[in-house]
Amino acid sequence: MSEYLKCIACGAEYSLNELRYQCDCGGLLSVERDMKQLQSISTKDLDQRLLSRKAHDISGVWRFREGIIPFDEDKLVSQPEGQTRLYRRKGISSWANIDRFFLKHEGENPSGSFKDRGMTTAITQAKKLGADTVACASTGNTSASLAMYAAHAGMNAIVFLPDGKVASGKLAQALAYGAKCLAIKGDFDQAMAFVKRLAMDGKVYLANSLNPFRVEGQKSIIWEIFQNLEWKAPDWIVVPGGNLGNTSAFGKAIREAYEAGWIQKKPRLATIQAGGANPFFQAYQNNFEKLTAMEAETVATAIRIGNPVNYEKAKREIQELDGIVISVSDEEILAAKKIIDSQGIGCEPASACSLAGAKNLVQGGIIKPSETVVGILTGHLLKDTDNIDKENQPIPVDGNYQDILKAISS
Ligand SMILES: *Cc1c(COP(=O)(O)O)cnc(C)c1O
Repeated sequence: MSEYLKCIACGAEYSLNELRYQCDCGGLLSVERDMKQLQSISTKDLDQRLLSRKAHDISGVWRFREGIIPFDEDKLVSQPEGQTRLYRRKGISSWANIDRFFLKHEGENPSGSFKDRGMTTAITQAKKLGADTVACASTGNTSASLAMYAAHAGMNAIVFLPDGKVASGKLAQALAYGAKCLAIKGDFDQAMAFVKRLAMDGKVYLANSLNPFRVEGQKSIIWEIFQNLEWKAPDWIVVPGGNLGNTSAFGKAIREAYEAGWIQKKPRLATIQAGGANPFFQAYQNNFEKLTAMEAETVATAIRIGNPVNYEKAKREIQELDGIVISVSDEEILAAKKIIDSQGIGCEPASACSLAGAKNLVQGGIIKPSETVVGILTGHLLKDTDNIDKENQPIPVDGNYQDILKAISS
């Protein structure tokens, strides 16, 4: 097997078959591979798979399997996920002042968020290692995704949620799929610490993005964008940042695709944080000297995270790819969401950071209006129905035709 786990801090290596989430030194682990294996797969090979009817070719994750993780076909836990659409709208382009602006809608995944891309890999790996109980801490979408994949694989799921801070659509999913849901008095970061301890004690298999297999699956968002754009990389990828799993995955995906020869130039990466939950932005501003954890608060509950576990990985990717980190206000997020919704696309609040951030970067002269930009919509509109525009409300009408005529003309 040419893949192995490597510590990003000290370089120690471990086998993929070993159950571990971190290096002995405490550093984050990354799945690394012999790049010759990827170089032997051409973009033509990858395009050919779009014509196949096999589940692992239809999946927008496993289509890129040589660059994801090794799997046995009979142990693959796939829905199949990915294969999300790329949207382009005049109304959005003109609002952001970017002509070639695309939105990749990861809310079109089976559980309604991009988390499925990392969950299919984490649960496939859990099955390979013989795990029977999987767990995560979550701001909502990870728990919905974990519950879905665990149900599919016949495993028990335990999810830790910050009490009262999870959008109702997400909690409903986790409950419906049969996960044991613990509503923790405390925030995401405290829930994360508990589940990490349980995993280190060997009681559960950890499916948070601290798990390096999650990050491997999420790389496929970027590879699918390249494939959607006929292997012409955009100038910019813009993504919301919370726990920074995507920022880490995207940087790795860009580097690996370039090394594999799938793209001829690397896009730049912009991570967008919410103003009330922006520890990564603050660290970026002081040249990544240190991360200062904060108490997070934002309307975008999916990214209400004050102590991102993937900080070290994300920092490395932003530095290596000449990336950028900015912070936008809740007002900017909701304004961007309103535009996305009004164009018949729709997303949950955190996702709208991509558009709010892109607009902000154009205004600041960092993104040029002539550049090609892809923003990621991380979650579906129906995940969080409390934060839709309140101006448009149902009109009460009595059940008679005259009232109806009056209502439609008012
Ligand atoms: C998890 C999540 C995020 C944050 O992604 P990270 O990889 O943790 O930075 C953003 N938006 C939505 C909708 C999410 O579910």
